[in-house]
Amino acid sequence: MILVSEVGPRDGLQSISRVMPLAAKKAWIAAEAAAGVREIEVGSFVPPGLLPQMADTAELVAFARTIPGLNVVALVPNAKGATRAVAAGVMGMSIPFSMSETHSLKNVRKTHAQMLAEIAAVAEIAHAAGVHFAVGLSTAFGCTIEGAVPEATVVRLAAAAAEAGAAEFSLSDTTGYADPAQVKRLVRAVRAAVGARLTTLHLHNTRGLGLANALAGLEEGITTLDASLGGLGGCPFAPGASGNLVTEDLVLMLNSMGLKTGIDLEKLIAVRAILAEALPGEPLYGFTPDAGPMLDYRERLAK
Ligand code: ZN
Repeated sequence: MILVSEVGPRDGLQSISRVMPLAAKKAWIAAEAAAGVREIEVGSFVPPGLLPQMADTAELVAFARTIPGLNVVALVPNAKGATRAVAAGVMGMSIPFSMSETHSLKNVRKTHAQMLAEIAAVAEIAHAAGVHFAVGLSTAFGCTIEGAVPEATVVRLAAAAAEAGAAEFSLSDTTGYADPAQVKRLVRAVRAAVGARLTTLHLHNTRGLGLANALAGLEEGITTLDASLGGLGGCPFAPGASGNLVTEDLVLMLNSMGLKTGIDLEKLIAVRAILAEALPGEPLYGFTPDAGPMLDYRERLAK
C-alpha cells in the first residue's frame, strides 16, 4: 500500500496569490477524502499576516478532524506555529528544514544551527501532545540560489535532525531539480543515516521529471508520496509546468501498476471541478484528466 499525501491545500494554495474561500477548501478536502485519499496537509501555521491564503488553517483542521479515517496534517514553520497546530488539533505536523543554508537564511532567516534548535523545540511540543512530527528536508536536490547541495550535507543535517527528535523524514525537491538517479542515491544515503524514518518524497514537476522521480523512490522503498490535485501552484519560472507532482497522474500510475492506493481515480478527477469553480482561470495540470484512464484500466486494477 502506498500513501498518497495530498498537499494541494497547503503547497498549492500558498503558491498562488488568490485566497480560496474556506467553504471551497472544505468541499475540496471532503471530496478527496471521499475519493479515498487518507492523508491531507490542510494548511500551514505561518503568521496569518504573512500568508493570507493560510489564515483559516485552524478552522480547516477542526473541519478535517470530523472526517473519519483521514490523517490531518499541517506544516509548521517554528515552535510558535507548532503550539498553534497542537491547539487546533492536528494529528501530525511537519517543519521544512532547508538543506541550503542560503535558502534557509533567505526564507526563514535562520542558520542550520538555529533551525536544529527550532526542530528540537517542535519535537518537544509534539511529543508532549502526542502528535506525529516529521521533518521535510527541503531543497535536498538543489537550490535556486546555491545550485548543487552536497549529499553529505543532507545526510549530516538529517542525522542531526533525527538527534533533535524528528520521528519521520521526507526528502523534498522544492526546486524541481531532482533526477531519478539522484533520488536513488540520496534515498540510500539518508536512509543509511536515519533508517526507516525516511518514508516520503515531496516532488515538484517543474521539469517534467516528477513521475520518474517518484518511481525511482518507490524502487528504493519510499512508501509515501506527496502530490497536489491539478498540480496546483504551477511554477512561475517555468510556464506550463505544474507545481507539485499531479495527484491524478500519480494515482493513475500507482493504481495501474497494481500498487494499492485506496483512491478511486474517477472520483479524484471529479474533485477538480471544485478547484475550477473556486479559482476560475487558475491553470490545472495533469495528463490523466484530459486523456482519461486506459480502456482496460479497471482490468488492471483487478489484477
Ligand atoms: Zn513543495
